[in-house]
Amino acid sequence: MSLKNTEAVVLSQLRLGEADRIITFLSPQLGKFKGVVKGGRSLRCKMLASTMPLTQVAVWFVEKRTSGLHLISQCDIINPFRTLKENLHKLVSGLYLTELVEVATWEVEPDEGLFELLLWGLGSLAAGERLQAVLRIFEIRLAVLLGYEPQLSFCLGCEKELAGRESYYFSFAKGGVICAKCRAGARGCKISLGSVNFLRQALRFQQEKLGRLTLTAASSKELQQILPAYLSYHLERKINSLRFLNLLNVRC
Ligand SMILES: [Zn+2]
Repeated sequence: MSLKNTEAVVLSQLRLGEADRIITFLSPQLGKFKGVVKGGRSLRCKMLASTMPLTQVAVWFVEKRTSGLHLISQCDIINPFRTLKENLHKLVSGLYLTELVEVATWEVEPDEGLFELLLWGLGSLAAGERLQAVLRIFEIRLAVLLGYEPQLSFCLGCEKELAGRESYYFSFAKGGVICAKCRAGARGCKISLGSVNFLRQALRFQQEKLGRLTLTAASSKELQQILPAYLSYHLERKINSLRFLNLLNVRC
């Protein structure tokens, strides 16, 4: 048994009986992994803040190869994303991002790009007020990392380039945009060229320049219907925090 160390973000925490807690982490080197915080009350209290979801940490653990549940011995906070936890809307938005990552990933599949995207998402939510733009950028970039990059340049039916005068739809099953003629009864949500352009820019911009992207109210409303449903469709899972997030969005 050797002591290992990695940087990670805490995705979730689960009680295990009266005394123990199972923590799920995302690490750039190890991917998603689980660890248990055991021991007396003093040890749990010491790690209470550092094992809270939405916290960037340095974690030390004893590797357990048979159970896949490592034994956490120390967890130090690198970034608590404090302002994220002081505002309900930001908090639920952050929990939506971590739930998406937890649902979308398998254990022990390292992905530095995904870790960087999650840090960007949590940092942007903590720092700014543009919650909807951050969520939509995160969703489309996550879709690409998971291998579900939608076609946004031409109609998937007739292959004509998208033009201003046409009406377009976003098809979950086909994975991209189709024109009204090619839609022919197939399911799809209406999408404007403004929203398509936002998605193209969200994919093209370097991560550090994403803060410059603006999302109009109309595109925000449209993409809020499309992107979470597109991810759920491919992940074949409902995202629990989305329901609560939608309730908050209606009130704001
Ligand atoms: Zn077409």
